[in-house]
Amino acid sequence: MRVMQPRPALPPGRLEEKFDDKKPRYDAAEAVAEANRCLYCSDAPCIAACPTGIDIPTFIHKIATGNTKGAARTILSANILGASCAQACPVEVLCAGACVYNLWGREPIQIGRLQRFAVETTLEKAPRLFQPNPRTGKKIALVGSGPASIAAAGLLALEGHTCVIFERKELPGGLNTLGIAPYKMKGPDAIRELEWILSLGDIELRTGVEVVGGRASGPRQISAEELISQYDAVFLGLGLGADSKIGIEGEDGPGVWGAVDLIERIKAQPGFALGGVKRAVVVGGGNTALDIAHELSLLGVEVDMVYRRSEAEMSGYRHELDGARKDGVRLIENRQPVAVLRDEAGKVTGVRVQRTEGGRPLPGTDEVISADLVAVAIGQNRATQVALAFPGVQLDAKGRVVVDPKTHRTGNPKVWSGGDCVNGGKEVVNAAAEARTAVRDIVAALSGRP
Ligand SMILES: Cc1cc2nc3c(=O)[nH]c(=O)nc-3n(C[C@H](O)[C@H](O)[C@H](O)COP(=O)(O)OP(=O)(O)OC[C@H]3O[C@@H](n4cnc5c(N)ncnc54)[C@H](O)[C@@H]3O)c2cc1C
Ligand code: SF4
Repeated sequence: MRVMQPRPALPPGRLEEKFDDKKPRYDAAEAVAEANRCLYCSDAPCIAACPTGIDIPTFIHKIATGNTKGAARTILSANILGASCAQACPVEVLCAGACVYNLWGREPIQIGRLQRFAVETTLEKAPRLFQPNPRTGKKIALVGSGPASIAAAGLLALEGHTCVIFERKELPGGLNTLGIAPYKMKGPDAIRELEWILSLGDIELRTGVEVVGGRASGPRQISAEELISQYDAVFLGLGLGADSKIGIEGEDGPGVWGAVDLIERIKAQPGFALGGVKRAVVVGGGNTALDIAHELSLLGVEVDMVYRRSEAEMSGYRHELDGARKDGVRLIENRQPVAVLRDEAGKVTGVRVQRTEGGRPLPGTDEVISADLVAVAIGQNRATQVALAFPGVQLDAKGRVVVDPKTHRTGNPKVWSGGDCVNGGKEVVNAAAEARTAVRDIVAALSGRP
């Protein structure tokens, strides 16, 4: 068990350090020039498209008039994770996608880059942007240290509550540290934001401590029962679980990776290398598949992405597919992997695929795609079983924690939840928005308000 406050940056020697930033931070002149393009629309569709409802024209106007600190305050008051969202958000389908400039076929306002400029430059110079309320004496346990829990902890600490975050991994930050594509955001940026959140008030982070359903054994575990009895409220930010498997011959063994596992190593494991991999097959059609395909391609690997349906049916974002293609990824649609092929020494040599129709394989249509690495990105399992150890908490048929959407309270009056374990896997900004909803209700409940 380690109590982290503050924590050193991620160790050097990680593959993610090799990636260039696709959208580097603006300097002041660039930011003002871009801000001056904004029309400050009165019905601002960009605000409606932001899950946290940031007042985008107001913060952009503040940048244009040289009030960068005010801009950061506007952003962070609506979204405490404004720093990571500035880099990680798929703005193309959110705020920038809704910008009126698109209607005229013109480049939308670069809202994410403006947000990044305002928040990063402000927090570097003036991190004490918000003052916490006096201590209330109430204690809240937060399970997991991903975006949902850290957003909730930051907001609760500003209300004067004491927070203790339990994270089973050694590295904190959840997928913000370990999952976001390194050409968008690198681990140290996520850790920097986490440290800023920890500085907002009375927050303790215990890494390497798992919350378990049954009896806890040793200092690296704590039970759900202990949390319920020792804390005034509990927030579950459990995220999702391990990568799902395809279940085909040859899948188990070296050279076949779950995509999230491989991304975590690229981002956080010092010394991790691809070991001479030249060709890879990525299986899947969602954003995780696009991310790992794009990352491998930028690392110099020739990548074929195999998807069992058509390009039009992919759940991954169009702009991500375009970006991946531009950097060399080849999409092979309407193909289903049926076996991973290995040589006598067990080394991966390729993937046998069959053509599909309507997602179903057609026997007798086999082809072989050569590869020396396979990354499987067909979804993540649920890791929500532990939630059932909190009396009254329920899971739906898909294993998601059931909450009242207006309050994010579960069936247990002391337990709230948000983020991927509730929404089934969305974006960082959704985790931040759901955490804010939960915090409003926790604060009301702890103060005795209805
Ligand atoms: C590969 C990948 C790339 C992504 N890229 C983007 C992107 O570019 N932009 C974007 O906005 N979103 C992206 N997302 C989605 C985004 O990362 C998630 O929506 C977000 O991290 C959800 O936050 P969370 O806190 O709910 O879960 P997580 O980030 O998963 O955090 C959950 C944490 O809880 C911990 N935990 C779980 N169970 C326990 C337990 N019993 N005890 C203690 N700790 C526990 C886990 O170890 C983990 O650290 C991506 C997701 C993936 C998989
Ligand atoms: S829609 Fe575009 S132009 Fe209008 S306020 Fe938003 S960012 Fe500015």
